[in-house]
Amino acid sequence: MRVLVMGAGVIGVATAYYLARAGQQVTVLDRRPGAGLETSFANGGQISVNHATPWAEPSAPLRMLKWLGRADAPLLFRLRADPALWAWSLRFLGNCTAGRVRVNTERALRLALYSRQSLIELRQETGIEYDQSRRGILHIYRDAREFGKAPRQAELMTRLGSVRRLLDADGCVAVEPALSASRDKLAGGTYSPDDESGDAYKFTVRLAGICKGQGVEFRHGVTIRRLLADGRRVTGVDTDGGVLAADLYVLALGSYSPLLAKPLGLALPVYPAKGYSVTMPVKDPGKAPEVSLTDDERKLVFSRLGQNLRVAGTVEFAGYDTSVPEARCRPILKMALELFPGCGDAGEAEFWAGLRPATPDGVPVIGKTPYANLILNTGHGTLGWTMACGSGRAVADLIGGRQPEIDLRGLGLERFG
Ligand SMILES: Cc1cc2nc3c(=O)[nH]c(=O)nc-3n(C[C@H](O)[C@H](O)[C@H](O)COP(=O)(O)OP(=O)(O)OC[C@H]3O[C@@H](n4cnc5c(N)ncnc54)[C@H](O)[C@@H]3O)c2cc1C
Repeated sequence: MRVLVMGAGVIGVATAYYLARAGQQVTVLDRRPGAGLETSFANGGQISVNHATPWAEPSAPLRMLKWLGRADAPLLFRLRADPALWAWSLRFLGNCTAGRVRVNTERALRLALYSRQSLIELRQETGIEYDQSRRGILHIYRDAREFGKAPRQAELMTRLGSVRRLLDADGCVAVEPALSASRDKLAGGTYSPDDESGDAYKFTVRLAGICKGQGVEFRHGVTIRRLLADGRRVTGVDTDGGVLAADLYVLALGSYSPLLAKPLGLALPVYPAKGYSVTMPVKDPGKAPEVSLTDDERKLVFSRLGQNLRVAGTVEFAGYDTSVPEARCRPILKMALELFPGCGDAGEAEFWAGLRPATPDGVPVIGKTPYANLILNTGHGTLGWTMACGSGRAVADLIGGRQPEIDLRGLGLERFG
């Protein structure tokens, strides 16, 4: 079967890999000159299974109000007359109840656990290297009250099959000695030893290379303008290079997926949630963290990627604006150097911004559509790197007529009614 995968981010490329492995004839389309050049380019690097929790939770609305107008706010709403943002926000609020958190966490964790296992197997199959680290993820808390909620969250995650160990401040320093300079700032932490980290961009590019070796065709520099349909079938993709046709189509365009789906009458509740990252060369290896880390209060993640330290965070609802203002990145750099003094070369720091394809419930949109030959693999929000392999594998199984190894219930478009 000829399958056309739209998008060569980590999701599209992982999908292409599993499709090719199952013997499908695959073409990947992307407007960029290479794979992984948009949101998959410089993300936080975490394979964060044990923190696969949605943003929408009972305390989220109050926290957002508290952060309004702060230049270093971890979450910023830029007020815009954008009906898509308002509709998304209403749905987000609807997911901020304890009941919804339980349902959404179970769905996200189900996919994340499967995905990490698929990544491990893929690594064994291919020998792919991407500055990966298997030293776990340490989630640190500065605020004692927030840390006080950690046992309940850890208990919920444990019940759902995940592993989170509670640590006091000394326990955190024992896991990550580079934290010793900031020992006094810590209230405690949770450590998930099974979690991983690695460079999503290197992974995407190298997996694309492996795909090419398996016969996958990549067409770069091709912009998709719209999907063509006849009744309930997609008949082709109209691009700036002409119309391309296949038997089956996978929509994996990240934050841009809803724009292409809308003319077909498919309302995908995916909205761009902008984030920033700072990457700097490690100056003193003893002062930079080796273990991937999340700073709960600042909402920052740290990952050591080879000789570099990546620090990522911030959520900004600003439409499709991909500018990289220094005023948003400098506070990230400053906070990183406060936590790990002398860790990196700030003069060489590189700033970046990307658009997370966020859904209001924090769960991606994977599976069939009312169009018989159009499959969705999008909306991975803050966890696209974590969930890429499992999502690609499940979609390839669905296309091949095999029963996916995980239950896809609750992950599809139908949950939005
Ligand atoms: C600051 C930040 C930190 C993050 N940290 C983490 C983390 O630690 N762990 C984690 O799991 N996730 C993280 N994420 C999320 C993760 O990066 C994303 O979920 C993931 O990259 C999404 O992948 P994707 O393939 O769906 O989208 P993309 O990588 O954006 O790929 C979509 C592709 O579609 C192409 N495209 C779009 N429109 C068109 C068109 N019209 N025609 C042709 N091509 C088109 C683009 O060129 C692009 O290559 C982070 C994100 C950000 C922004």
